[in-house]
Amino acid sequence: MALEFLELENELRSYSLKRAEELKQHIEPYLKKKAELPTGFDLADFYAAQKERILHYFKASQEDWDDWRWQMRHRITDVDTLSNIFSLTPQQKEEITTVGKTYRWAVSPYYLSLMDFNNPNDPIVLQGIPNIKELQDEQGEADPMGEAFTSPAPCITRRYPDRLIINVTNICGMYCRHCQRRRNIGETDEHKKREDLEAALAYIRANPEIRDVLVTGGDALLLSDSTLDWLLGELHKIPHVEIKRIGTRVPVTLPMRITDNLIKILAKYPPLYINTQFNHAKEVTSEAKKAADKLVSAGVVLGNQAVLLKGINNDPDVMKRLNQELLKIRVRPYYIFHAKNVKGTRHFIPSIQEGLMVMEGLRGYTSGLAVPTYIINAPKGGGKTPILPQYLLSLDEEKAILRTWEGKIVHYHNA
Ligand SMILES: *Cc1c(COP(=O)(O)O)cnc(C)c1O
Ligand code: SF4
Repeated sequence: MALEFLELENELRSYSLKRAEELKQHIEPYLKKKAELPTGFDLADFYAAQKERILHYFKASQEDWDDWRWQMRHRITDVDTLSNIFSLTPQQKEEITTVGKTYRWAVSPYYLSLMDFNNPNDPIVLQGIPNIKELQDEQGEADPMGEAFTSPAPCITRRYPDRLIINVTNICGMYCRHCQRRRNIGETDEHKKREDLEAALAYIRANPEIRDVLVTGGDALLLSDSTLDWLLGELHKIPHVEIKRIGTRVPVTLPMRITDNLIKILAKYPPLYINTQFNHAKEVTSEAKKAADKLVSAGVVLGNQAVLLKGINNDPDVMKRLNQELLKIRVRPYYIFHAKNVKGTRHFIPSIQEGLMVMEGLRGYTSGLAVPTYIINAPKGGGKTPILPQYLLSLDEEKAILRTWEGKIVHYHNA
């Protein structure tokens, strides 16, 4: 009896070992590729050297660097300043100047310190520095989302039954070259007027079905501490507003904005969710981690809304690396957005097939926590539409035919 049991156990163990061997094979290519996909932590020395160079140029101190207002005042917005800090080719200079006449640009010294100008495909440069392709786009639309048609009150976009957006500013730490709200990033930086925000609050108070309010922009965390304190406080007082959310890219582009005072304010108004936009593992730095740690300490729940961008992250391994890095700093991947048809950004749009490949490379291959939902925004404000690789091959009253993450076809009894 005991002997038989031992034999069975050995058999099971040897089967399991074989299976483990198979699973190891699945991850082998990624482990090899990982070395070529450095994160912000891996690049810490390079970033530190670049930071020294920028500080030296501005004759500034570490204290200045850690001051988000200093960062905002010293955003790099012209090619002369840029080329004084990092050497650019005459062609690069000319292209940036030409594009800058049509589309403004601005990069915080912090985000600039992550850029590698020696790499023509650097994902940070691609996101922050103007590219001539922006002007070679004849087809894009200014407002493919039809946001202008879904605003029942000042500053508000309402597209869903129980939740809405308040748009509080058009200012950002940097102006992303792929920005989907590019039409709002005009020539002048401005926060919304207090009376417009009052009108938005009045609309929310008068519509009790609104249980979720998303404060966004531009970048909502570029409001002053006192305005944020007031606005979140007002929302907090509305009994039917169950949750508040903030949309911001400062953890990525201006992490020093997450100050101790801001943390004190945010901690007063739970439950508060903050969604940010990391698009590449190179953006996950020790500064970003510090910002995330502080937000978590304030009880904020962090999520990431990446944009799928050609040449930046339209690759399963790049996206896997990003999402795994994000989980390490307690930011949960929430959405991957398919880039919209916005004029001047179309060179970033990958195919939907590529998006599906990215999703295919995540599910099963890594933690479910690292698998966000892939979304296409339906044109004209039709709403977020989830897109998934096909795992359900057929379904009728008796059975379903499924495809597993490894591609095994299995039959499954229905009910
Ligand atoms: C994206 C969006 C929301 C939030 O959608 P979730 O799927 O709940 O994250 C709300 N309102 C508008 C207008 C939006 O575009
Ligand atoms: S932070 Fe957001 S709103 Fe601002 S430029 Fe970047 S993508 Fe656009």
